[in-house]
Amino acid sequence: EHLTNMIAAGEVVERPMGIVKECVENSIDAKASSIEVRIINGGLDCITIIDDGIGMDFEDARMAFERHATSKIQKDEDLWNIHTLGFRGEALPSIASVAAVDLLTSDGTSSTKVQVHYGKQLMHERFAAPKGTQIDIRDLFQRTPARFKHLKSPQYEFSLISDVIQKFAFANPDIAFRLVHNDVETFRTNGSGNLQEVLMQIYGRDLAKSAIRIENSDADYTISGYAAQPNFNRATKYYMLIYINKRMVRSMRLQKAIQDAYAPYLPSDRFPIVVLNIEMDAQLVDVNVHPSKWEIRLSKEKQCENLIYLSLSEGLKKALQ
Ligand code: ADP
Ligand code: MG
Repeated sequence: EHLTNMIAAGEVVERPMGIVKECVENSIDAKASSIEVRIINGGLDCITIIDDGIGMDFEDARMAFERHATSKIQKDEDLWNIHTLGFRGEALPSIASVAAVDLLTSDGTSSTKVQVHYGKQLMHERFAAPKGTQIDIRDLFQRTPARFKHLKSPQYEFSLISDVIQKFAFANPDIAFRLVHNDVETFRTNGSGNLQEVLMQIYGRDLAKSAIRIENSDADYTISGYAAQPNFNRATKYYMLIYINKRMVRSMRLQKAIQDAYAPYLPSDRFPIVVLNIEMDAQLVDVNVHPSKWEIRLSKEKQCENLIYLSLSEGLKKALQ
């Protein structure tokens, strides 16, 4: 059991960023309206995530560390109709197999503290706590030196975390995010629900104010978001952000559709800055492709590519004529 958890940990939690991603997904699934992420030393020393979501009751708090004990999937068919970011029930047991994890949670009626350190449950008790969940993850990979060796500098590890929090912020403008590194706040959003404000906080006023609003739909897909003017661009692809039902995904083909739309306006070695959320029936997308959940399969991909291409080309044409 401990061994299985450690193996799964290799796929889900290679580095602090993966841990932060899993925990923030849990906070979003728990309907939090505010999520605070506190990082010490790039996450090597400590990762703390505090949310004001629905929390867990006494028994669920312990169960959360059991393998495949997800509260989000009840039956097989649910796997083809996923409405939460998590569904594998792997993250917490995996994380707790390679770190010292303290969980404090309250569902508003009862509150609980659970400690699982390197796969061993040390505590499961009633404990005073505000509504929501706080998870502290300390001394990551201290007992798995081979994995520890793979980490880069704390500054680099933190930059990956910062990146992933910004991506969550784009997908969830109605959630207030706060990111703190070594006791210094590095980033926050206000949770107002306004995507343009998030754009401003992350990319600055000039880009946000001039960005082109994208809103379009066909029978299966609804696209919304912002596309920066072509004079704002980057030398890497990483600024074309695509979300499927608010889940951040990596898709070469959807990125290609964005690039194609910008092609008339950009030198071939430059890439646009775009934030697009695509909403669709959960049955049209398979998110159970890889444990990290970055990859997806769409059953009508070509149609989705076309809609992205058309929406952006029209938006750009209108804005630039
Ligand atoms: P999954 O998200 O795939 O269900 P996890 O291992 O990430 O699996 O979490 C296990 C369970 O713990 C979740 O199904 C959920 O019930 C509970 N849980 C984890 N984090 C939170 C949180 N921040 N708020 C409320 N419940 C949580
Ligand atoms: Mg999860």
